[in-house]
Amino acid sequence: MTTRYQASRDDLWQLLDGEPRYRIDQVWNGLYKELATPESMTNLPKALRSRVDEALPLALTPVTEAESDRGKTVKFLWGLYGGSRIETVLMLYADRATVCVSTQAGCAMACGFCATGQAGFTRHLASGEIVEQVVRAAQRAKSLGRRVSNVVYMGMGEPLANEEPVWDSLVRLHDGVGISARHLTVSTVGIVPGIKRLTDRPLPVNLAVSLHAANDELRDELVPINKRYPIAMLMEACDEYLEIKGRRLSFEWALISGVNDRDRDASELARLCHSLTMAPHVNLIPLNPTPGYEVRGSSKMHVHEFRDRLEALGVNATVRQNRGTDIAAACGQLAAGQPVKMSTRDQRDSK
Ligand code: SAH
Repeated sequence: MTTRYQASRDDLWQLLDGEPRYRIDQVWNGLYKELATPESMTNLPKALRSRVDEALPLALTPVTEAESDRGKTVKFLWGLYGGSRIETVLMLYADRATVCVSTQAGCAMACGFCATGQAGFTRHLASGEIVEQVVRAAQRAKSLGRRVSNVVYMGMGEPLANEEPVWDSLVRLHDGVGISARHLTVSTVGIVPGIKRLTDRPLPVNLAVSLHAANDELRDELVPINKRYPIAMLMEACDEYLEIKGRRLSFEWALISGVNDRDRDASELARLCHSLTMAPHVNLIPLNPTPGYEVRGSSKMHVHEFRDRLEALGVNATVRQNRGTDIAAACGQLAAGQPVKMSTRDQRDSK
């Protein structure tokens, strides 16, 4: 079965067999440019609208929705064919609107501090399921008078463990929805062959690497895939990506109290950043609480001290605004209905 945002233009042509080319273009523009539902495509005859609706079913069934930050963060929980669940987050800022998409139901990377990793892997998403997350969130943004400008592949799953559908979805978001490559960001735990293949693909999307540790001993522990693709190998792939794509590279660093937030961690990270041909940007996130990880995030004050220390060492670093911790929508908290129980103390600490 071809779902609505999985279908290519040629699929549409075949599914709506007998319709003239300009009708196919109208449907395509309706779906991607106007973010319209078939019923609301009033430039089409009524019979054709129903035909589109029936021939191209939606892939995501809304389960629940939660809002935080006075409606500026919305987390959508969707049901998929086969019963698995995923989450998507829409974040409205003054100057941009960002959608954070899932690429897998669950994740096999097993990072202990991440709620998705704690829950394990269920299945890969198809490209249409990834694209539909953006369209449905963009429809919400549109109803609030906003346009989605950025998409980050930072929801549930490891994008480079589901390469082809992720790639197809990037192309569709670029060509169909019209989001430029510099507003598309793929985040990876550091799957080196995947980064290399991304380097060879045409769209110069931004690359974010979830680093969290700048020495192999600690990174093996925090991000287990590091045992297969250690830091030196990862840095080489990052360098190549930077050189060929000329895009900004960012490192994600979730600050864990007493684990990777010490002075020596800042020095090691600075050394690693300086070893690259182009300076990366470091995004600091205070570790958000998850049910299966005992260690705490660094205090807000210490996160800023760590940032200042990095800056003093010549590294470009920002503290990422934490959105949606109260609705478990923040980095590492997406678990799609797995019991995410957090005490009020956790919630208060994570603010
Ligand atoms: N699998 C990809 C995409 C997920 S992005 C990747 O790892 O890059 C989600 C980001 O949130 C990653 O940088 C991840 O390491 C980070 N993260 C996971 N758990 C977290 C937590 N509890 N607190 C803060 N950040 C977390």
